[in-house]
Amino acid sequence: MGDRPPLNRILDQLAGYLEFEISEGARPAEFTTHPLKTAAVPAAKPAFVPAAVRAAPTPPAPEPAAPPAAEPRAARPAADAAGAKAGMKKLETAVASCTKCALHRTRTKTVPGQGCLAPEILFVGEGPGAEEDAQGLAFVGAAGQLLTKMIQAMGFQRDEVFIANVVKCRPPENRQPLPEEMEACLPYLREQIALLNPGVIVVLGAVALKGLLGLDGIMRRRGQWHAYEDIPAMPTFHPSYLLRTPSAKKDTWEDLKEVLRRVGRPIPAVKKG
Ligand code: SF4
Repeated sequence: MGDRPPLNRILDQLAGYLEFEISEGARPAEFTTHPLKTAAVPAAKPAFVPAAVRAAPTPPAPEPAAPPAAEPRAARPAADAAGAKAGMKKLETAVASCTKCALHRTRTKTVPGQGCLAPEILFVGEGPGAEEDAQGLAFVGAAGQLLTKMIQAMGFQRDEVFIANVVKCRPPENRQPLPEEMEACLPYLREQIALLNPGVIVVLGAVALKGLLGLDGIMRRRGQWHAYEDIPAMPTFHPSYLLRTPSAKKDTWEDLKEVLRRVGRPIPAVKKG
């Protein structure tokens, strides 16, 4: 090949260099900056550049990376499913006979919460209502049906997430739980979160925001990332509020889209109506 013209040799080397780049995983910027794919795709090795092309103009710099999720689900250890199942059973038994606050006097059934034991998303509301009290299941009344729609709009089924409340017994007349009732019951929720190790917690409404995170001001806090220990927490409106104020659904969907971005899920198109 020594008799080939220098230009052909340079072109051969350039073609070899490009093939090497592709085989080593060079990808468009939007691939490598995706929060989950960034974690999954190892960094490309430094590419070999033949001397003949080192002087070639450098390609344009990649687009600035989109802000990545601080800690995508893939980076969090999954909950120990067997341990979570046993722990949750024990917790449910303890809740069923709990008399730590006055709510035990008026409850029909305790409502510990239910769902996937290694969830990407944990939804936390304030407390059971009449339907929940009768069935022993969280979010099964009218607000629960709306929550189901919200979960499905996010691309999940209810049994793929976990749903719980700050208090596990129904406050009479559907009043808000009192601070001392939330304080008495919070250890159960904290234990559930430790067992479930969710990727993200969605905090539903002002009472859950206060009960779980100790914060006031759902109006100004919704849509902003907070944290419960090291778990990202997104406050948004409670489905009961959305039933009374349908115009707030749009903001809620924006909050839920943030959650989907955080866990690296695609954002489904939502049908109007
Ligand atoms: Fe116990 Fe919680 Fe029920 Fe109060 S609300 S009785 S702390 S389970």
